[in-house]
Amino acid sequence: MPHLVENLANLTTHKDRDELEIALVLTIKDLLAPLTIAICRIVGERDDERWFTCTFLGPGERVPKIDSAWNNRDILPRLSDHPLRQQAFDTQQVIRQISSPNITVFPLSRSFEMRSVLEVHTEGPLAEESIKLVTGVLRLYSNFQNLLDYGERDTLTELLNRKTFDGAFMKATIEQNKASDLEQNDRRDASGAGRYWLAMIDIDHFKRVNDTYGHLIGDEVLLLLARLMRTCFRFHDQLYRFGGEEFVVLMRCKNEVDAGHALERLRKNTENHLFPQVGHITISIGFSEVRTGDTPSGAFERADKAVYHAKASGRNRVCSHAALVVEGILVEQATNMGDVELF
Ligand code: GH3
Ligand code: MG
Ligand code: MG
Repeated sequence: MPHLVENLANLTTHKDRDELEIALVLTIKDLLAPLTIAICRIVGERDDERWFTCTFLGPGERVPKIDSAWNNRDILPRLSDHPLRQQAFDTQQVIRQISSPNITVFPLSRSFEMRSVLEVHTEGPLAEESIKLVTGVLRLYSNFQNLLDYGERDTLTELLNRKTFDGAFMKATIEQNKASDLEQNDRRDASGAGRYWLAMIDIDHFKRVNDTYGHLIGDEVLLLLARLMRTCFRFHDQLYRFGGEEFVVLMRCKNEVDAGHALERLRKNTENHLFPQVGHITISIGFSEVRTGDTPSGAFERADKAVYHAKASGRNRVCSHAALVVEGILVEQATNMGDVELF
């Protein structure tokens, strides 16, 4: 038991979600000594949802494997391929299967981006007491997650707020460096590695919406746009509201064409969406690739210039900074690599 208290104390020191999941898996390992532990998340679009195993501890392993990175969604199992997981998630109850090995699935999180379950395989069936203990640990974990969410998410749209952006951007630049190294060493390996893109999204003539319909209806438009964004991007893309009517996406895509397509899809879906009372609105988007050694301020400056061009050239457009440079419309600025000044 003292070990459990120590583990729980350790669990609540982590703010990084990946580290928090690792600490949770290690706590469960100490409690149950199971064969395997997996945290499985629901990802994908509404009619094509899949199970993605983001954290896994195999037999005899001491350190969980964490996979928050790129994955080909088409090879992931469908929800119905794992009925126990699906049942645990749908009913929010612990589901057990007496078999060899014994499988126990605990519901973990219901919040949209983190819909997940914890699946444990053990040699013998779990005692009622053990299930209660794990359920208690998971409640504590979930309360802690909610506290983190409260500080990291925008209260209106529940998208991430600005606070967590710099950390996520730093992680992205590290991944980007790895992808560049792979590309230099072996082009075939690099083809699967994603690159990161930063997009800024600004609602067109939003002041008019507020002036005509009032601030509350304006807020509803912001909320609905956030929902549209969730349906347009993939689970590993990070969606932010930076305050006001400005949204940011840190997305992982193979190349500029794919990044442009995803953003174009959002632009079109927004244009076609019928917002209650307001009718139709449009958005302007600017984006730029995150570069090796980039800083948030450097990447924002490029995306911002592209948004500015989208606005100046008629609005309701998606503009790529790199494409505008090639066209001679924008001039490439000297990079501010190593500049620690933040956005
Ligand atoms: P443009 O196409 O050039 O972007 O025009 P715009 O009117 O959208 O741009 P501008 O930046 O001039 O105005 C942004 C407006 O967004 C000002 C304010 O009325 C509105 N706004 C900012 N934050 C909020 C918010 O939290 N809620 C609501 N309802 N409106 C907001
Ligand atoms: Mg604006
Ligand atoms: Mg605007």
